[in-house]
Amino acid sequence: MINNPAVILVDVQNDFFTGPLKTKRVGNIIEPLQRLVFAARKNAVPVIYSIDAHYPQDIEVTRKWGSHAIKGTEGAQVIAELKPEEGKDYIVEKRTYSGFYETGLDPLLRRLYQGNGVKTVVLCGLHTNMCIRHTAADAFFRGYRIIIAKDGVEAFKDEDHEQDLKYLDYVYNAKIMPVNEIIREIVK
Ligand code: ZN
Repeated sequence: MINNPAVILVDVQNDFFTGPLKTKRVGNIIEPLQRLVFAARKNAVPVIYSIDAHYPQDIEVTRKWGSHAIKGTEGAQVIAELKPEEGKDYIVEKRTYSGFYETGLDPLLRRLYQGNGVKTVVLCGLHTNMCIRHTAADAFFRGYRIIIAKDGVEAFKDEDHEQDLKYLDYVYNAKIMPVNEIIREIVK
């Protein structure tokens, strides 16, 4: 059993799947994530979308990556295959790599499970070596256990993806688990 888990989907938005920052590789994570999200909802595990909602003024990010996921645009919408369930899932917007940096994610996690709080974050989405990595760092600093959905995260390049799975395990003690196994653990 995983202690008080929450599934956190990072940057599962049009601009990263079909827009300016798309790669062929990212399509692979959609099907596993559909299964994970379905199982989570069915077993009362909170599903949280930690997604980019940039302002055009976020120049430190757009200088590096070009304009993407601008708040309110089609490109910033969650991909149709992984639509949030209204009134049930949570959406926490972010403006940089970490889902925790100046967002309401931490207070939300601490209030779930009738105020007992989430203890384990299951991170999935994009990208293994960037937003997943920085969100994992901030989760680690705040005392959360970390699970990475092995087939539910991707990066622009295979070597970055593989290297960072090792890094996340080594530095943040993250458990790298296939979606199948995570589902088995969260089913009550
Ligand atoms: Zn961004």
